[in-house]
Amino acid sequence: MTTSSIRPKKKFGQNFLRDQNVIRSILALVKPCQEDNVLEIGPGTGVLTKGLIQSGAVINAVEIDSNLCRLLSEKFQNNTNFILHQCDILQFDLKELKKASKPWKVVGNLPYNIATKILIDLLSHPSLFTKMVVMTQLEVAEKIVAAPHTSNYGRLSIALQRKARVNIKLKLGKECFFPEPKVNSAVLEIRPKEKKIRNDFEIKFSDLTRSAFNNRRKAISNSLKDFFSSDELLSLGLNPKDRAQNLSIETYEKLTNFLMLRERKEFGR
Ligand code: SAM
Repeated sequence: MTTSSIRPKKKFGQNFLRDQNVIRSILALVKPCQEDNVLEIGPGTGVLTKGLIQSGAVINAVEIDSNLCRLLSEKFQNNTNFILHQCDILQFDLKELKKASKPWKVVGNLPYNIATKILIDLLSHPSLFTKMVVMTQLEVAEKIVAAPHTSNYGRLSIALQRKARVNIKLKLGKECFFPEPKVNSAVLEIRPKEKKIRNDFEIKFSDLTRSAFNNRRKAISNSLKDFFSSDELLSLGLNPKDRAQNLSIETYEKLTNFLMLRERKEFGR
């Protein structure tokens, strides 16, 4: 089986990287070395995989497409540091990665239709990973890195920036891929933060930001009226006339803590 015999499948978001400069730049951002464990998501025909393997790192690659898995198995059959998992990354048990003695780096030119879902799943285990270098649609990357007071700032920015430092490292045109996608792309570097995850806090935080951003044009006195009175917002140092996009991540955390405390008092917990 050869790379040229592969017909790209739209349903798996197969837009293969063909620009060697971009491939080199991504590998330079990952800086794989012999001591690393690397999780590669969607290796495709193996254009990034090759450089990762050559670094001596141990590569665990997760690919859904059986044809591509056959190609990759043949291509890298002599490389003992290459382990291929033929499965859906959304079904892959990330907890299994905890068994490794060293933390993981993640690399992937992600299938764009499920990129945010993949990133949210990965960041629900922040302590597992030291660094992620991933390609997404430019529009999504801009939402991920957006700061408060901008129109791109929203639940996605908050969900990811709470758990990681995020930066756009490269912006790419459609011509870097075969077949050309309809959208531009960007490479993000994501460095997870040490953060304790408490499920009850996460649920409340998520309810609060959903309510704020589902009504993003409304003042928070209105969009958050089921949670806080205007007086409570004032006592917490907020302007009730502000909108969802004016509140920092720390402010949403402060509001969630207030709700948790109030609930504990009410129920005597
Ligand atoms: N890394 C290759 C490259 O840069 O040329 C391929 C990138 S292509 C944009 C996305 C890859 O993810 C494809 O190989 C596709 O088959 C794979 N893929 C799509 N959905 C997947 C899923 N749910 N789980 C694992 N791999 C998936």
